[in-house]
Amino acid sequence: MTTQLQTPYFVIDEPILQRYYHMLTDSLAQNWPNYLIGYSFKTNSLPWLVSFVKRNGAYAEVVSEDEYLLARHLGYTDCEIIYNGPYKSQKSFCNVLLAEGCVNLDSRQEIKWLTELVNSFPDKTFKVGVRANFDLEKMCPGETTMGETSGRFGFCYETGRFAEAVENLRSLPNVQIAGLHLHSSSKTRSVDIFRAIARMACRLQEEFDFTLDYVDLGGGYCGGMEGRPEYPDYFPVIAKELRKCFSPEQTRLIVEPGISLISKCTTFVTSVFDTRDIKGSRYLMTDGSRFNIDPTMIKASHLFHLEYNADYTKNRPLMERQIVSGFTCMEVDRLFTHTDQPELVPGDRIIYENVGGYTMSLNPLFIQYFPAVYVRNGAQMTLVRRKWTPEDYVQGSMMDDNLPL
Ligand SMILES: *Cc1c(COP(=O)(O)O)cnc(C)c1O
Repeated sequence: MTTQLQTPYFVIDEPILQRYYHMLTDSLAQNWPNYLIGYSFKTNSLPWLVSFVKRNGAYAEVVSEDEYLLARHLGYTDCEIIYNGPYKSQKSFCNVLLAEGCVNLDSRQEIKWLTELVNSFPDKTFKVGVRANFDLEKMCPGETTMGETSGRFGFCYETGRFAEAVENLRSLPNVQIAGLHLHSSSKTRSVDIFRAIARMACRLQEEFDFTLDYVDLGGGYCGGMEGRPEYPDYFPVIAKELRKCFSPEQTRLIVEPGISLISKCTTFVTSVFDTRDIKGSRYLMTDGSRFNIDPTMIKASHLFHLEYNADYTKNRPLMERQIVSGFTCMEVDRLFTHTDQPELVPGDRIIYENVGGYTMSLNPLFIQYFPAVYVRNGAQMTLVRRKWTPEDYVQGSMMDDNLPL
């Protein structure tokens, strides 16, 4: 039973994860049968999760050499890698290209690496993708993450850098532009955003007369949020746009979901361990921290539910203001204010919901090390990452000669 486990810990509900994975594949199969899923490692690269998506057919979407090496370590071959982002290493870049994995070029430096590589293999044809940077804000006012300032990834269409990259690539005899990468982050994650991205893919295809093996729309979908779009809302709209210029027979649709796949299935279980009254406020000290579930300090509210300590049978008076705070010694480590609610006492549990993305992989090793992670299957809880210990923390460190180890 969950109540006997030592908090804090994350729980991944496997049937819910499976349901979301199927919702994604069903929707893709119905709308664009020639598809490929590249799971976004940066969103949550917990090895159990990676093995889950791998077993279900997803490739690894990585954005650094370390993530690439992790994917290899967890059993991915070079041809099952989708390599994105501005910070690739030359060696891993060449490995993936030589194995006919998927590399989406992000910079002029990478075109130089490619030129060197293809010159040493004149008999081989190399297929590459190009990441397009474009003014999505203009197409969806108020919706993008960067707003009026531009995003900074890929080759900019409006400044002519994209056209220049295409021209450079076309001048290389044994290179083929096989794909477009259009990942863009948005605040709204709306269906309109993806309609606009699909339209941009068509516009580039028409303007540059591409024959593409794939269009990669990236990630950034919603999933598991009340009143917000789900996978079946996106793909009919995307497919309708893409069919104006592409066909599933010729062009594969690549999607790179992260948070939408894992949000709903993941919770973080914490306990109140102390309360204190200071200047009219009741502080609840909990063994979870804002660093565990909101490490970038951007969330204005949290989804959660409570489990009351069953040993505490006294009445719980309504309290005007209970400030839920974390265990760290930083004043900013406050999660939310519980207003006009029954009094919480030590042993009560606060269980945060929808915390799968940008949490476990972004959690600092600050004051307490990584918490445990369990996978739930009905009543069964399986430990898939034990709590980190000081031994885990010191690995790779060198000690001064005078310090005993
Ligand atoms: C971050 C990222 C994703 C995943 O984004 P989510 O919002 O977690 O779905 C996919 N592709 C690229 C290139 C990314 O940078």
